[in-house]
Amino acid sequence: MMATPEDFAALYARFDAPMTDVDCGAKCAPYNEYGVPFCCDPRHAVPTLYRAEWDLLRPTGLWRLWRADDPEETRRLWAETPPEQVPAVCAGPGVMCSGQRAWRSIVCRAFPFFPYLTREGAFLGLTYYWQYEDRCWVISHLARVQDAYRQQFVAAYERLFALYPHERETFRYQSIVMRRVFGRRHRDIPLLHRDGGYYWVRPRDGALRPARPEAFPRHGVYALAAQMPFPDEEPPAETA
Ligand code: SF4
Repeated sequence: MMATPEDFAALYARFDAPMTDVDCGAKCAPYNEYGVPFCCDPRHAVPTLYRAEWDLLRPTGLWRLWRADDPEETRRLWAETPPEQVPAVCAGPGVMCSGQRAWRSIVCRAFPFFPYLTREGAFLGLTYYWQYEDRCWVISHLARVQDAYRQQFVAAYERLFALYPHERETFRYQSIVMRRVFGRRHRDIPLLHRDGGYYWVRPRDGALRPARPEAFPRHGVYALAAQMPFPDEEPPAETA
């Protein structure tokens, strides 16, 4: 099946629920240099677009293909990007997260999550790109992820797996890597299950045990903030 721009327009329409009950960008941005959410800052994450998605987004002028200042860095990133995708960034920091939310890419809508698959290839639910534990506010507040978002995420990736069957293997492998990494760290993996529940995954064999969402840990600055007398206070805004 060849994916089309219309497929992505339909995906966007059905994957639009807010991830949490707050604007998470306002929560993490004060901790980033220049006050930009981490996932809108190509120094931290360069999103990729499926080529059919790029065909949909290119006419909006809201996205451009990614080129680093350093040609070698550009070459490396393009070489690492799967052939049916392109690295791209939105027109300016925060543009997608403010007035142009309808044109957020699938990767932007999904971040910080990816589909968690068992070794046998069953798509169980959502876990997250652990490399962003120290920066992403959502990862430290998994209990705040809305049920509607979780269900839309699952439906969107079921559709993507139908359009790009090899992506199922991509995320099965990503899940294997996460189990290896967490196994070495003697940590269990938080899972937002597609059945609506919360679980810990044991890396050694993938066994699940129920979790209390409020027991999922906080990380980095959010762990420090939780120990402060007024944990819900934002850090002071950066001044120029
Ligand atoms: S998903 Fe994470 S990194 Fe992106 S804006 Fe929300 S809290 Fe920040």
